[in-house]
Amino acid sequence: MYAKSAWEKYSEAECKTCFDFCEGYKEFISYGKTERLVARRALEHAKKAGYKNLFEVDKVQKGDKLYVVNKNKNVCLFIVGERPVTEGLRILGAHIDSPRIDIKQNPVYEKQGQAYFETHYYGGIKKYQWVTIPLAMHGVIVKKNGETVEVHIGEDPSDPVLGITDLLIHLAQQQLQKPAGSVIEGEDLNLSMASIPSKKAEKDKVKATVLEFFKEKYGIDEEDFLSAELEVVPAGKARDYGIDRSMIAGYGHDDRVCAYTSLLAILDSSECEYTSCCILVDKEEVGSIGATGAQSKFFQTTIAELIQRQKGDCSFLDISHAMENSKMLSSDVSAAFDPLYPQVNEPNNSCYFGKGITFNKYTGSRGKSGCNDANPEFIAKVRKILDDANINYQTSELGKVDAGGGGTIAYILGNYNMHVLDAGVPVYSMHSPMEIVSKADVYEAYKAYKVFLKDA
Ligand code: MN
Ligand code: MN
Repeated sequence: MYAKSAWEKYSEAECKTCFDFCEGYKEFISYGKTERLVARRALEHAKKAGYKNLFEVDKVQKGDKLYVVNKNKNVCLFIVGERPVTEGLRILGAHIDSPRIDIKQNPVYEKQGQAYFETHYYGGIKKYQWVTIPLAMHGVIVKKNGETVEVHIGEDPSDPVLGITDLLIHLAQQQLQKPAGSVIEGEDLNLSMASIPSKKAEKDKVKATVLEFFKEKYGIDEEDFLSAELEVVPAGKARDYGIDRSMIAGYGHDDRVCAYTSLLAILDSSECEYTSCCILVDKEEVGSIGATGAQSKFFQTTIAELIQRQKGDCSFLDISHAMENSKMLSSDVSAAFDPLYPQVNEPNNSCYFGKGITFNKYTGSRGKSGCNDANPEFIAKVRKILDDANINYQTSELGKVDAGGGGTIAYILGNYNMHVLDAGVPVYSMHSPMEIVSKADVYEAYKAYKVFLKDA
């Protein structure tokens, strides 16, 4: 309720700078349709900015710019600060996985002259939103000999797109009686692949057409899908949204919008008092678990590697001190107050488009369960930093009390006993194939992340 519109603050020149910044972001999410692609693009940016692989460096000194990459899906960037790493870092952490539809391990089948891929969705989606839209497929197939083949279908304008059909309205009387959660069942999200029967096959001729395509284009056999990771996502590029071009429509704003702004914040920074850090993690949408999620030991080990190269050795206490002395913004998107759906938000504690980066003191559900609940001492510090830099911010909760809920990676880093505050960009239609953000919020988030690294 204290938040002000960034648009009213902007001069014409600032508005142009904001729009220009967002062109880079649009390019980033149009390319980064999977966590692997985002990690790759982030690394490309970092290398171009002079970042060196931590593991190729023997000794770390202040001012060094370093990167670490984990299993092609996690990236950590550091600018070593004036103070030793054990005195703490200033961390921006975002996730780079987004809700989507994954291909099963035995995907290909044929039915009544049509060939399909079996799928299993990833993260929270309203399944009915993913039918009758153009879809693309991205991912890797790893052969037994270790060779990795990359698959990209549906983004190039000359490519075909893929998709999932829906029942025609004329025959949907029964379907339309169902609750929205089961109008389209998970097992029915089958991806259309082909319809011409192969002349070379005796049976399952359309399935054969699919397999011949993959053999010819990618050199793989049907069995190789066993070790594939193929993701189905909305096809096409991010676009300006609204006649004033004030917003961006695209797939995967959650949470690539905070990943991009955090990434650019560190890339556009130089040496600060404390070591700057940006971590991009995977698997947030399914609980941050596994080797590449925020709960992975990867981050802790990376900090140990960093201290080892700065100090010459690294004890358990050194790592603990580095963590406990750290401060972090958990960079994740928030649900914007949508004037078309006012019933789920409490207006005084909601975030709004165009009012800047939003802080969630806590997330969680049913009495804040599972939340991080940032300390007011830390929030006060962040308020001061942003006010001093004339950056627009607001505070919000994820919907009305007991309306639902959700979480972020905040509590996971909080478990290391560091200060963490959720801070991100408000989004409309979150987890849908076409999410919306405000350009002003994207730009204010970038500026907020940057000043946090310097002054927190
Ligand atoms: Mn998120
Ligand atoms: Mn999410």
